[in-house]
Amino acid sequence: MTTKAYGAYAADKPLEALDIQRRTPGAHDVQIDIAYCGVCHSDVHTVRSEWPGTQYPCVPGHEIVGHVSAIGADVRSFKVGDTVGVGCLVGSCGHCSSCNDGLEQYCERGMIGTYNGPTADAPGHTLGGYSQRIVVRDDFVLRVTHAPEQLAAVAPLLCAGITTYSPLRHWNAGPGKKVGIVGIGGLGHMGVKLAHAMGARTVAFTTSDSKRAAAKGLGADMVVVSTNAAEMAQHAGSFDLIINTVSASHSLDTYTSLLRRDGTLVLVGGPEKPHPTPNYTALVMKRRAIAGSLIGGIAETQEMLDFCAAKGIVADIELIPAQQINAAYERMLTSDVKYRFVIDSATLAK
Ligand code: NAP
Ligand code: ZN
Repeated sequence: MTTKAYGAYAADKPLEALDIQRRTPGAHDVQIDIAYCGVCHSDVHTVRSEWPGTQYPCVPGHEIVGHVSAIGADVRSFKVGDTVGVGCLVGSCGHCSSCNDGLEQYCERGMIGTYNGPTADAPGHTLGGYSQRIVVRDDFVLRVTHAPEQLAAVAPLLCAGITTYSPLRHWNAGPGKKVGIVGIGGLGHMGVKLAHAMGARTVAFTTSDSKRAAAKGLGADMVVVSTNAAEMAQHAGSFDLIINTVSASHSLDTYTSLLRRDGTLVLVGGPEKPHPTPNYTALVMKRRAIAGSLIGGIAETQEMLDFCAAKGIVADIELIPAQQINAAYERMLTSDVKYRFVIDSATLAK
């Protein structure tokens, strides 16, 4: 089925309107009419080939919410009209040790991304949510139970939400823990909301003095401007966990030095150039760890959506028409968004 989309034909080309094809739903497929799609910094890294391996045309978008418009003959868990979401992955092998553990994002044979992943569908790689419609295997479709008027602000939970929720849960953020969130962008602002909701003492680290007041409103107990050495020094050796969402290369020593003994710095931000080698002494003297974390599995993504629905948590968004996507990228690159752009998919028809 012909579907209107926004995408790029090359790394140095802007995104433009294009027509793509979606497959007719197979027995286990769910066809979704997309209502909204969030704009993740990974979309920019991919479209511009800042990470290796982008295939063109590239249609990004992995923060998808919408309504089921058709189902395959063997789909039992969804019906036409259901409100659903699709995040960063649409497939995995289903029987390796990671898949068996419900950690499809770490599939030993490689998870299939919602965009730029391998597929039998033309053009041979998956095309994402900057489009009117998507067809996804039922196992990779999430249920959305937020109030209907919250739907646009639910979209960013599908990547920004789960990418911060998963490490917060894995490293036991909660009462009695001091948790830092570095970079108050799309991921970071969700990290602050979620760490606060889990009951952790939450500290936001930002390079933007203009976000100081706003980050408190997200639920941060304290906001630290990371370029202010005196402010940073007050927190030396005090954190159980720091989640680093920064999208650019920088010195990790700034944050490992803030960890207490056995504390962990978790990298989720994916810089295009490597971070400088971390200082050895800062790690060994307090048995500090640097770890990484990739999105979250399907079961955990559903758990996160249900947690957010129960607590009334959504993203803070700026809704845009698809035609403004290139300008939105430029603004995201200067940290000029509070805190996530979301595309109103109805504008794709224009
Ligand atoms: P974003 O909205 O652009 O937020 C990134 C934030 O990092 C900015 O708002 C800014 O916050 C800070 N920052 C940017 N450049 C900086 C620099 N040079 N030095 C220090 N701080 C800087 O991006 P996002 O969508 O949240 O994504 C963040 C990163 O996570 C991207 O690299 C993305 O690809 C990656 N990601 C990873 C996963 C995963 O599974 N691991 C999933 C999704 C995204 P302040 O203004 O507060 O300083
Ligand atoms: Zn993302």
